[in-house]
Amino acid sequence: MTATAPITQDVLTLPRKLPEGGKVNIVGLTREQLRAALVAAGTPEKQAKMRLGQIWQWVYHWGVRDFAVMTNLAKDYRAFLAEHFTIEIPEVVSRQISADGTRKYLVRIAGGHEVETVYIPEESRGTLCISSQVGCTLTCSFCHTGTQKLVRNLTAGEIVGQVMLARDDLGEWPKPGEPKDETRLVSNVVLMGMGEPLYNFDNVRDAMQVVMDNEGLTLSRRRITLSTSGVVPEIARAAEEIGCLLAVSFHATTDEVRDKLVPINKRWNIETLLNALREYPRLSNSERITFEYVMLKGVNDSDADARRLVKLIAGIPAKINLIPFNEWPGAPYQRSDWERIEAFADIVYKAGYASPIRTPRGEDIMAACGQLKSATERARKSSKEIAAEAGL
Ligand code: SAH
Ligand code: SF4
Repeated sequence: MTATAPITQDVLTLPRKLPEGGKVNIVGLTREQLRAALVAAGTPEKQAKMRLGQIWQWVYHWGVRDFAVMTNLAKDYRAFLAEHFTIEIPEVVSRQISADGTRKYLVRIAGGHEVETVYIPEESRGTLCISSQVGCTLTCSFCHTGTQKLVRNLTAGEIVGQVMLARDDLGEWPKPGEPKDETRLVSNVVLMGMGEPLYNFDNVRDAMQVVMDNEGLTLSRRRITLSTSGVVPEIARAAEEIGCLLAVSFHATTDEVRDKLVPINKRWNIETLLNALREYPRLSNSERITFEYVMLKGVNDSDADARRLVKLIAGIPAKINLIPFNEWPGAPYQRSDWERIEAFADIVYKAGYASPIRTPRGEDIMAACGQLKSATERARKSSKEIAAEAGL
């Protein structure tokens, strides 16, 4: 490990339950945690399971934020809840809507920090891209988020809260008395916003448990994709404890190049990463692994790279998602030419792998992959620092 590539998960993590004037925020607690919190506050043990089910439905099925509305609970019990608990989600500071319909939310979390959440509507689905950290401790040289100095882990409530605030904005909560609408606006969730989700493992796992619960937000684990830069020791745990789909930021076919693009490669190199990935689908009973591959002009986009890539991943059920590089101010790379990207995709496709080219979405509002970063420009690294970390 070098001094220029700090690989650490030693970042500030807030207490799991956010005490607001001594109150516990319900949002983000798993069923077991909420049950325990209800009992700790004085709910009789015998009633706890039933109360938990009722509250859960109000919060995650109906989207209710006020205990007074929970009419199937006795008035006294509602008052008791209001005394001990809150139902809080992060605040949307601003919302931008791209010409292509993509929505970017700037979200304020406790401590005044900000993260971004992006909603990408498509014909047959709507994908919400959520953040797991403020900034990122990793320093991938092509990623805007990696240039942000300040880092803090999001709580489980702040992660679940991003799904809830998008449903608020899109008006997606069911309305009592109205027939159930089967079309889902937020039909998929990708952990591809700011941060490395596997460096905030417990909060991400708990949040996904809440999101996947089938009496609440009911997103199936096959509609959730977690993207990692390659935190090898946590990959098997993700399979066992979360079980969602996995995407890996691969981006290079030699250790020499990957060391520069994704510095975590110095800790766990390509071979080690691939060995961990071979186990994933079996452990999680999941479908193919998505290999994300950012197309950087003259860096990782040759025919030889494409051929090496398919050789490396042989035997892994995979699809290759080619991401045209999205530029940001001061970025030390350029997007590969379109013909190059297509030629690369063709080689991968002919080797038997789906090789979709990801259409950049929301570029006009800086909402595309890798462009996310809080407006805290004060904390920005200099272009010299960025170039030094890229080994340029
Ligand atoms: N930290 C996680 C998830 C967030 S990044 C990870 O790295 O996997 C989501 C995807 O966008 C990753 O594959 C990342 O490598 C890619 N990405 C980052 N910066 C980019 C950029 N400027 N252009 C295109 N893709 C980028
Ligand atoms: Fe962090 Fe992912 Fe960006 Fe790398 S690509 S700096 S891991 S957010």
